[in-house]
Amino acid sequence: MSPSQKRSQQRRGGRRRDPDAATPRGVRRSPGSYPDKSVRVIYVAAEGGRTERDYLRQVEKSYGRGDDEQGVRPFRFHYCDPGHVNGLRPEEAVLQVVAGASSPDDEKWALFDRDSLDNRDAEIPAAMRLAARKGVQVALSHPSFELWLLLHFQHFTSQEDGRDDKVKERLRGHKDAQAFREYDTGSGKRGKGLDDEHGAALHGREHTAVRNARKLVDACPHGGCAARTAATEPIGDAAPEPYGEWTARTGHAPDCDPLRRDPSTDLWRLLVSLGIGTEGSNSKGSTNRRSARDAKKVPHQGGFAQRQKAD
Ligand SMILES: [Zn+2]
Repeated sequence: MSPSQKRSQQRRGGRRRDPDAATPRGVRRSPGSYPDKSVRVIYVAAEGGRTERDYLRQVEKSYGRGDDEQGVRPFRFHYCDPGHVNGLRPEEAVLQVVAGASSPDDEKWALFDRDSLDNRDAEIPAAMRLAARKGVQVALSHPSFELWLLLHFQHFTSQEDGRDDKVKERLRGHKDAQAFREYDTGSGKRGKGLDDEHGAALHGREHTAVRNARKLVDACPHGGCAARTAATEPIGDAAPEPYGEWTARTGHAPDCDPLRRDPSTDLWRLLVSLGIGTEGSNSKGSTNRRSARDAKKVPHQGGFAQRQKAD
């Protein structure tokens, strides 16, 4: 049984269905916990128990102090600890971040995967509609978060029908991804956590990952999706966006079925919203041919930010 199959079985077997189970214990912070308003706080929940959290920790370590020159405002991720050994269902991840945030206008992201082995065809669309109502941005990865990691090293267009074996295989085998050669082949150091070595392998390649992820939006099987129409500004604290408007933030057409965005990942919008991986940012020798409009900084303006076309 592959690790992802095993994970799926664990999820099906050991899941608690009570939505209240998504409420974090002891992680709620009062607004006063972050007294320095110059530091942007992004509340995050992810279905995975470890990989996404470790990844965000590495991003924060590399860029969280901010960089005036690159237009990166200091930020930190407030990771809403799942508290579930088997991770969260997509809707639980949305509820988790809503519960973990201090106020309705906090920036909130939920990360989850397509993962076709996990029988979630009904859950993903429901989780996305819930997220739209709750003002939560979703980073959906199809087939899995590992696609986003792989895009730091190479483009990947193969439709895998929601299975990520090939994605991980490519990641482990890529000549520039030495730190990942034993990724998810066992427990501990060889498991799915991302340490400093992994972080260093990804660092400076964000621009490549963003560019590759944008290309996947443009190549979406729907045919009417375009990264240049995506939006990267935070959701404001006004009334919830209608679902069509909310989902169009991804660059995918409002009627593009999330389950058919094969392959795709929305992680690029989170990074670009922070000013990472944009035109002019540090990059390991990647050629950049995108429009200079990408370099526009996206200020966090508490709900009054203008919608920005991320092209
Ligand atoms: Zn699409």
